[in-house]
Amino acid sequence: MLTAFRESDGQLVSGQLIRKRKEDRYFCPECGEEVLHARSLSGVRIGHFRHKPGALLCSYGGEGPEHERIKAEIYLHLLEHYPTAFTTLVPEYRDLSDALRPDLFLETRKGTRVAIEVQVSAINVEEMTRRFKEYTRLGVHMLWVLPYPADRLVQEQEEWGWAHGQGHYVRAVHHQQAHMLRLSEQEVFLYWAYFKRLVYWPGAGEGERSFSVMRLDEAYSPGREMLINGEHQKYNASRNSMMKRILRLEHGIRFDAFRPTYARAFRSLMRPYPIPGRYLLMAP
Ligand SMILES: [Zn+2]
Repeated sequence: MLTAFRESDGQLVSGQLIRKRKEDRYFCPECGEEVLHARSLSGVRIGHFRHKPGALLCSYGGEGPEHERIKAEIYLHLLEHYPTAFTTLVPEYRDLSDALRPDLFLETRKGTRVAIEVQVSAINVEEMTRRFKEYTRLGVHMLWVLPYPADRLVQEQEEWGWAHGQGHYVRAVHHQQAHMLRLSEQEVFLYWAYFKRLVYWPGAGEGERSFSVMRLDEAYSPGREMLINGEHQKYNASRNSMMKRILRLEHGIRFDAFRPTYARAFRSLMRPYPIPGRYLLMAP
């Protein structure tokens, strides 16, 4: 966790922003157990807190190390690159509503309030819809960030070629960027909610620490003719609801290129659920 309550003044403090003081004690905002101030979290140099070894199971940090890493890296990224852009920049924000605890909450100097949700584990569409409605009711713009799907973006291509020097055919395997991506259910929800754009944060040790934006579109499979009851019938091109075509993938997107906007409720013919009216922080 990136924040904890400090005993000396009862304040919720960020482990990255406070100095290490031996005489102070810190407590978990979730379970109330004492936690330790530490400097490094699953590969990220960031001040944070952790439960003492042997502590009772606490739901805090139960979202997994990848979720903690991405949350910490985005927080550090915003602190370092936009030190004066926000009047509020708080990880694990608890004062918005009892029903929501955004991974990062910020308010810009213009008064735009933004919740960043890092979504590593799969959550169902009902839970996403609930959060969409609650953030929108509160007038908070949402930015949902997913872990970069590196392993799903590489395609193996096999090639056989005559090797003159060796006098026989050789097999070569090339890796190339995929043109299609099979989305998870939550990615499909975000794809429709964000006008076919998804926002990613790099994996551990993968390139530059900044946002990537992927623009996608529907993937059409060609129509076909079939012989039914002795007649040729033409079928229209069908659309696969999970498979999308990658139009553009851009890295190093600046946070200040994202724009707050409101989008009206919408029902996709492709999915069995509606997407509610929503405040978004839209990717460029
Ligand atoms: Zn705890």
